Amino acid sequence: MGYMLGLKCRECGKDYPGEAIHVCELCFGPLEVSYDYAKIKGAVSRDIIEKRPPNMWRYRELLPIEGEPTVGMQVGYTPLVRAKNLAKALGVKELYIKNDAVNFPTLSFKDRVVSVAISRAKEMGFNIISCASTGNLANSVAANAAACGMESYVFIPYDLENTKILGTLIYGATVVGIKGTYDEVNRLCSEIAGKYGWAFVNINIRPYYAEGSKTYGYEIAEQLGWRLPKHIVVPMAGGSLITKIWKAFKEFHNLGLVKNLDTKVYGAQATGCAPIVNAVKEGTELIRPVRPATIAKSLAIGNPADGYYSVKTITGSGGWAESATDEEIIDAMKLLAETEGIFAETAGGVTLGAAKKLIEQGRIPKDEAIVLCVTGNGLKTQEALYGKLGEFAIINAKLSEFDDLVKVNGRAYAMKG
Ligand SMILES: *Cc1c(COP(=O)(O)O)cnc(C)c1O
Ligand SMILES: [Zn+2]
Repeated sequence: MGYMLGLKCRECGKDYPGEAIHVCELCFGPLEVSYDYAKIKGAVSRDIIEKRPPNMWRYRELLPIEGEPTVGMQVGYTPLVRAKNLAKALGVKELYIKNDAVNFPTLSFKDRVVSVAISRAKEMGFNIISCASTGNLANSVAANAAACGMESYVFIPYDLENTKILGTLIYGATVVGIKGTYDEVNRLCSEIAGKYGWAFVNINIRPYYAEGSKTYGYEIAEQLGWRLPKHIVVPMAGGSLITKIWKAFKEFHNLGLVKNLDTKVYGAQATGCAPIVNAVKEGTELIRPVRPATIAKSLAIGNPADGYYSVKTITGSGGWAESATDEEIIDAMKLLAETEGIFAETAGGVTLGAAKKLIEQGRIPKDEAIVLCVTGNGLKTQEALYGKLGEFAIINAKLSEFDDLVKVNGRAYAMKG
């Protein structure tokens, strides 16, 4: 029943079977899943998709599994929120937030990639599932592995946010904290994958994993009434999500599911870790690795695997890239919460912080449809806000103390009677 043909080198085009490999043996280019699009075109339509259950597998023909999906039957189809209050604050006409802060089960878009990766790993006969993670992937691998009875090994920088560590341990995963940056964790995991033969979702089975991000893009198109936004701002870590959203838009266009493909794609990173943004601004496709220093730990990848392709996606679409400082990230997290009631993690602050600058610079026009990608939940990065929000009042349960409080705060209030 599958529509996947196998893997193909992104650089030299050499074909490979659909195995747990990710690098071309001829040119060392990354491998990508290839599909039988003619067959897919005959199998999907707006109507068929719309009649399916509201989860990411409604686009199953465009995902790299051979049999039935086995993981993530409740993942995806998160809200696309029309953000009228935030639009007003930014002075723009038509603004949407694709809100994966409420993606099931671990409150980030990583449940999409992990659902595909584990479904495929099971097809290939793996029984241990692993990852190198900046936090959200750790949560998702641990939870989804637990739910389908697999053992998981999760490798993280040891100094991640407490909630991200706790939110991995709870599922019974074996967690290994590495004294080093994510890039050092990743290098070690490549060695472990080679030696132990485990499925590392974002290393040796990365080609399948990465395809899961496309569902975020498909949903935006469907939820906008089968059309693409003019502008989309995407947070970048390894740079996979941004390239796959663009791939999703191109696929929908080629399949005739949307009419126009004229979206400009904008990339967002924290100023303390902005190797892709730097490359875009310097007009080069060459990524200069950096040592991350930012509160946006989920995006803290100094040597992004898909950095080169991210630059090509951004510039090829006519978009641009911008970064946000730690202070701008926190201000943006507050703005999003206060205008739309959405508590995003630090990565959401990066997206909105960068979008605000791009709008102010005139790079994103104020009168066209804009989508902001919120990819993770603020409850998971609370440390970033300690000491940054207002105090709350503590009083005894006495009306007079409340009367005093209202007076001190100087708020207008109406009394009954
Ligand atoms: C992993 C992650 C991203 C970016 O992912 P890449 O595909 O590596 O660029 C964005 N937002 C959040 C919250 C993440 O956890
Ligand atoms: Zn090749």
